[in-house]
Amino acid sequence: MARVGGDTFGLLGLEVDLAPETVLAVVNEPLTVEHRQAGVQITLGILRLGDADGSGSDALKDANIALQVAKRQRQSPYCYFSGNMLHDIRERVRLLDELRTAFECEHLHVVYQPQINLVSRKTVGVEALLRWRTEEGEYVSPECFIPLAEHSGLIVGIGEWVLRMACREAVRLREAGHPLRMAVNLSVAQLRSPAFFAMLDAALADSKVDPGLLELEITESMAMRPDDDIAGQIAQIKRRGIAVAIDDFGTGFSSLSYLEELDVDRLKIDKAFVGKLTTQTIDSSIAATVTQLARNMKLEVIAEGVETEAQMELLKGLGVDEGQGWLFARAMAAADLKDWLRARDE
Ligand code: C2E
Ligand code: MG
Ligand code: MG
Repeated sequence: MARVGGDTFGLLGLEVDLAPETVLAVVNEPLTVEHRQAGVQITLGILRLGDADGSGSDALKDANIALQVAKRQRQSPYCYFSGNMLHDIRERVRLLDELRTAFECEHLHVVYQPQINLVSRKTVGVEALLRWRTEEGEYVSPECFIPLAEHSGLIVGIGEWVLRMACREAVRLREAGHPLRMAVNLSVAQLRSPAFFAMLDAALADSKVDPGLLELEITESMAMRPDDDIAGQIAQIKRRGIAVAIDDFGTGFSSLSYLEELDVDRLKIDKAFVGKLTTQTIDSSIAATVTQLARNMKLEVIAEGVETEAQMELLKGLGVDEGQGWLFARAMAAADLKDWLRARDE
């Protein structure tokens, strides 16, 4: 056994002795520290030496790759190394390099998707969404590149750029007679960056946007990390007059008592729950539960991924305030948004 990093240990031995169940059982035994019981949680990356080629330090690297995969997956506390992992890592590194270049060469752009009041059918806001078109003209999904950007820290720079673009667009829209709320997605890496509030204040000052038009979206899974003092950070955002929405609500296993501590304005029902709505299941749906919760907590609620008239009627029946989805409009470039608003006579 060796200590190979600050909180990383290496074990070398026979496979029968080092079965993951055996190792986990040993570690799960609580420790007594100064008369208190303390639990330790570990994650294991396992390399069968039969699968290794190269030196001892290569074997350590491979075990470390399996460890990182295990940490990311979180389905199981351990993971065995496989050759495919190297392939996946090379792919991710390649994509990240391309993303970095695309960002530097200004090949990223921001599109805007309308948010509609379900009763008046008026456009009340837009959400800024990032798009990446590669040199070959293909679009890479944000679901694929945002996690990479978050993992590498690149999201801090990209997120600032999106925020500045969105602030500028909010000002332009207001000047054109559309004082729409501008929602911008925020990533946990941005909030953790020590310069976050200085960056936010500079973006506000440079664009001269009315902070009352701005809304920052924080995903539920990110809002539910009590160690990060998200509650304090949300309070600081709100102090600037900016609204806060919890994105993808219903997917992040909220602790309701913790949610009460967060001073947010809006819950966004995740599109997965909107897609599942039917007349038969509406009353017992997650969408109904979230809407009721929002009402009790005096929060606004918006549904994302509204694709059909039927879904819209069901959501309206539940008392959902606003909707966003392909039924109303896809995300559009700023110029197209202006035409779209004009065509709707807004
Ligand atoms: P999100 O913030 O929950 O954004 C809503 C997603 O739903 C968008 O996907 C949007 O295009 C999609 N959508 C809208 N209407 C419909 C519909 O009717 N049906 C379906 N099936 N989908 C619909 P998109 O643009 O692919 O973005 C995916 C996620 O990537 C976003 O989810 C957000 O978490 C992240 N993202 C996008 N732009 C940014 C950004 O600038 N910064 C950060 N941190 N994350 C971003
Ligand atoms: Mg969002
Ligand atoms: Mg969402």
